[in-house]
Amino acid sequence: MPCSSCLTLAPRTSPLQQGRIPAWEMIRFSVSIMRGCFGGCTFCSITEHEGRIIQSRSEKSILHEIEEIRDRTDGFTGVISDLGGPTANMYRLACKSPEIETNCRKLSCVHPDICPNLNTDHSALIGLYRKARELPGVKKVLIASGVRYDLATQDPDYVRELVTHHVGGYLKIAPEHTETGPLSKMMKPGMGAYDRFKALFEHYSKEAGKEQYLIPYFIAAHPGTSDEDMLNLALWLKRNGFRADQVQAFLPSPMALATAMYHSGRNPLKGIHRDRGEQVDSPKGLKQRRLHKAFLRYHDAENWPLLRAALNRMGRADLIGNGKRHLIPSWQPSGTGAGGGEGVRTGRKHGKQQILTQHTGLPPRVDGSRPAKGQGKPASKPLPGRRPTRAFTQGSPSGSGKRRGHR
Ligand code: SF4
Repeated sequence: MPCSSCLTLAPRTSPLQQGRIPAWEMIRFSVSIMRGCFGGCTFCSITEHEGRIIQSRSEKSILHEIEEIRDRTDGFTGVISDLGGPTANMYRLACKSPEIETNCRKLSCVHPDICPNLNTDHSALIGLYRKARELPGVKKVLIASGVRYDLATQDPDYVRELVTHHVGGYLKIAPEHTETGPLSKMMKPGMGAYDRFKALFEHYSKEAGKEQYLIPYFIAAHPGTSDEDMLNLALWLKRNGFRADQVQAFLPSPMALATAMYHSGRNPLKGIHRDRGEQVDSPKGLKQRRLHKAFLRYHDAENWPLLRAALNRMGRADLIGNGKRHLIPSWQPSGTGAGGGEGVRTGRKHGKQQILTQHTGLPPRVDGSRPAKGQGKPASKPLPGRRPTRAFTQGSPSGSGKRRGHR
């Protein structure tokens, strides 16, 4: 498996295989085919880390790696779990002119629209998929990296190839939002591109005689997102029959443009001046962040008290009721709704969860060793000027729980 940052091959017989490490399991049978991204989404810093100009591996090198997986990786059942990279479908795509590409200072080749200078011909990728699945011993090649669907719709042949041979029932794509306010701050395409892709996806799935579904991903609490935006997103989810299981809330990460919006309250995409420029409000407090996540999981009864209060405050009590046009019901199932809503993990099953280490309560290691003397107990008194070490209550997968209570 090549490291996505340097594309050098790491050994397949890693000591990690001795234990079960979910992240390793996920990438054991996947192959990076390229690095870089010209999408420029503001919440992501891959473009800053890996570059806007795509570096694609040679077909020979990729096919050789698949053969190596087939021949040398324990547990290989004939399924390559991914042929991708930061984006599934930017392999060998580039500006039509290297000279223009060198001088171009645009942040994205696909926002606000696909640049007319961008070559969107996916035939090199289609050829690679075909060769990969024709290799002896390879039964299936799946595509698990995110498909840039606005780009994919430029080449329907690619969508047909993807849908006919490389989708395992569900394809995850990331519109990230439905409303133009947050989408413009994210530098993501509007929902028109999603609808076009969905139409192609369904058409080619039907043509292939397969029942397949799109799973759209969304971000809550991104800079520039209002409560109304989240409400509209929840209504869209309900209208389209989606019930998100895992959702993510925006976290400011290093080098991302959205982080600059989050901290400065300004929009760097519109130019920053001392006394003018676009203001950007970011949902920051725990209450508002939880509410935004709760809108994404409007179907979870735990969130209904929070959502009822918010809808009443927003003057949208008309969405509370027991009909189809309502977002949430007016009744509450017994035993639910007392936990405080999204992000508060007081699980009905396990109660409050603590992260335990061998220093705070886990049994000794399998080999019987114990922590070195003096490291076994937490410090009884914190050092002056330092916060005491403590186990924290587990927050949401995206980290918006109590860990971030100091913000
Ligand atoms: S001219 Fe267009 S395709 Fe070329 S690098 Fe700039 S944005 Fe990308």
